[in-house]
Amino acid sequence: MWGTKLAPAQPETAGPLVDPFGRAISYLRVSVTDRCDFRCVYCMSEDMAFLPKRDLLTLEELDRLCSLFVARGVRKLRITGGEPLVRRNIMSLFEGLSRHLATGALDELTVTTNGSQLARHARDLAACGVRRVNVSLDTLDPEKFRRITRWGDLSKVMEGLDAAQAAGLGIKINAVALKDVNEDEIETLMTWAHRRGMDLTLIEVMPLGEIEARRVDQFLPLSAVRARLAARYTLQDLPDRTGGPARYVRVAETGGKLGFITPLSHNFCESCNRVRLTCTGQLFMCLGQEDMADLRTPLREGDDRLLSLAIENAIARKPKGHDFIIDRRQARPAVGRHMSVTGG
Ligand code: SAM
Ligand code: SF4
Repeated sequence: MWGTKLAPAQPETAGPLVDPFGRAISYLRVSVTDRCDFRCVYCMSEDMAFLPKRDLLTLEELDRLCSLFVARGVRKLRITGGEPLVRRNIMSLFEGLSRHLATGALDELTVTTNGSQLARHARDLAACGVRRVNVSLDTLDPEKFRRITRWGDLSKVMEGLDAAQAAGLGIKINAVALKDVNEDEIETLMTWAHRRGMDLTLIEVMPLGEIEARRVDQFLPLSAVRARLAARYTLQDLPDRTGGPARYVRVAETGGKLGFITPLSHNFCESCNRVRLTCTGQLFMCLGQEDMADLRTPLREGDDRLLSLAIENAIARKPKGHDFIIDRRQARPAVGRHMSVTGG
């Protein structure tokens, strides 16, 4: 109508984030640093170049961003990296975020760690309301552990696991299945984990970032691992779907839970409920795609409505799925950035 001005479109500052395929975003993974005290052979090159420290979001900025996501319907936060527990003063971020657990806005605050610093942080994590931690561990052999992680000390990780269990934290062990490296040890890892009351999730190598080795030489399809285990154990499919790439079974003989993350041999994207934030404020809508949105600029402009709008615009671009492929003809990784940047 003449003379009536249309109101400008208002950014949604409340209400859930839903992508164009109808997937509600309820899970945010936050890589708080790309640095690490290990150099796992499938994850990093030995002489990794890290992001300049000046580009990093402060812990206060990370808190603000995470809190905005919580206000927009995120119910689960996972703090990861790089190695999250090497970031200075990281416990203050957990302490701050725990307020969302107290209000009931957040269901779960968790962490993925290599375990090297867990012994000194386990009790504080539990005090912040963390109930479960994922600890990455690919072998129980100290020598092999050193070869895989290059710089890691297995005894420190074992101390971390003991401290976490003493603090009452539930533990899921993540193990990357590596051809000719730990493939003969997977059953041992599983029975060890289950005996200690820990779940085990096996992960296929993903083509993320340049490393020295060829990923095709590391890649072990979990279909083969599963078939081998199924010949000796009763694997009962579990219905729980986390919106992620893992499929779980109960192992009747051990009573424990075993997960398989098979991004290459299966497409898990139809139920994907997650996005990933890097330590410099880049939001990746898919682990397996290059597209991202810069949230640091609107964050530093200090207007939460603009920031919320930037997040909405990013979610509107969440792709249907990834394009991972590991192939002998393909020399370059499918995605240029390392897992330590986007957060595993
Ligand atoms: N540093 C912590 C840790 O190792 O648990 C957290 C970050 S790490 C990038 C998260 C997970 O990603 C780990 O379980 C690790 O084994 C896994 N990971 C790293 N690079 C990978 C790759 N190229 N393919 C598959 N999994 C990978
Ligand atoms: Fe570090 Fe985790 Fe990558 Fe290993 S997998 S190098 S512990 S970030």
